[in-house]
Amino acid sequence: MRVRGEQWVPPVRVANDPAEPVPALLVRFAHVNGWIGLRHFCKLLGSTPEKIGNGSDLATLATATRIPAGELQSKIPVFTGKSVSYFGHRLSAEWLDTRQRRICPGCMAEDGRNHRFWWDLKFIDRCPDHGIALTSRCACGNVLTYTDADNLKCSSCTDEGLLDEPAKVDVPPRPFQAWCLAKMGCAVPVDPVPALDNLPLMLAIQLVTAVATLLDGGFSRTRPALSAMKDGGIHAAERAFELLVQEDLQIAIEPVVEGFRHGRASVFEIAPIEALGWFADEYAFKFAGNVPDFDRLLRHALTHCLGFPVAALDRREHLSLRSLAREVRAPMEAVILALEESETFGQCRPVGDDYAVPTSVATAIRVQWFNARLAHL
Ligand SMILES: [Zn+2]
Ligand SMILES: [Zn+2]
Repeated sequence: MRVRGEQWVPPVRVANDPAEPVPALLVRFAHVNGWIGLRHFCKLLGSTPEKIGNGSDLATLATATRIPAGELQSKIPVFTGKSVSYFGHRLSAEWLDTRQRRICPGCMAEDGRNHRFWWDLKFIDRCPDHGIALTSRCACGNVLTYTDADNLKCSSCTDEGLLDEPAKVDVPPRPFQAWCLAKMGCAVPVDPVPALDNLPLMLAIQLVTAVATLLDGGFSRTRPALSAMKDGGIHAAERAFELLVQEDLQIAIEPVVEGFRHGRASVFEIAPIEALGWFADEYAFKFAGNVPDFDRLLRHALTHCLGFPVAALDRREHLSLRSLAREVRAPMEAVILALEESETFGQCRPVGDDYAVPTSVATAIRVQWFNARLAHL
């Protein structure tokens, strides 16, 4: 079948589906040409499923399918550090899973067994068209992979039986997933979300995931792993997205700030963002300066939770009157008296049995006490 110097071109052609990854195209191509063993099929082409699937041998597939290599190129993941470009979308590499193959049985049954690239993304677990869960299992129970001989079943199943389409159950919608799919160019109707709409997709998902982790884990110094969350954080992400749509982050951060308070006496010694534990680092590295609408929502929520106005997330603006008194080695009453005399006590807000002193006012008090001490020398 293989002519010397010339590559075998299988007789049945397949159309290029712009949403279908290369490994799935290969499986479909082998199937329509009547091949059961994908490895054997690739051997006849002069390659392997791995080489074609990872993009290192697209030329062979291009010749065999008569689809230009350039068009195939955009259908394989390209990794750069911790991110990946997949179908023109820059995403975090950890969100992509091509080891197993997840499918929507509804879509598969309908349109010629074409795979959709978003089925490979961990933050998508539902088909937007059929409202059913994606499955990584063949009807026989085996895990589906990209080396199966047919996009509909595993390599052990040789009969022609189609995957059973699960009954359409009444499942809650997934607005966050719909929003992501719309961002990736799918025709999914979504409402505007000012806090996210103007952000690059990867940053928006990182933001929603971070809020989801706060919701799920409460206060923590180190970020809990997404894999430790129920359903890999799918439900928490939907809840976080809902709060961002409602422009109300207080529900998400209230328990986190409570957890912070539990282990620390004063919230004035720190930049407000630090009351959110691990999120402070995340904020500094990824979000600061890039997410203005989210900043506004977070400042608003922190103002409520901390009990003093938060104008900047990462700058300390207030000091505890108690710790200021400790610093200048004077009773709290004496400091209050000094504040009253300088007519700045009105700028200090009572919080519990303490006061939030603006840092500028606190500096003036420090200078005053320092000068007084000098005068006594
Ligand atoms: Zn579907
Ligand atoms: Zn099977």
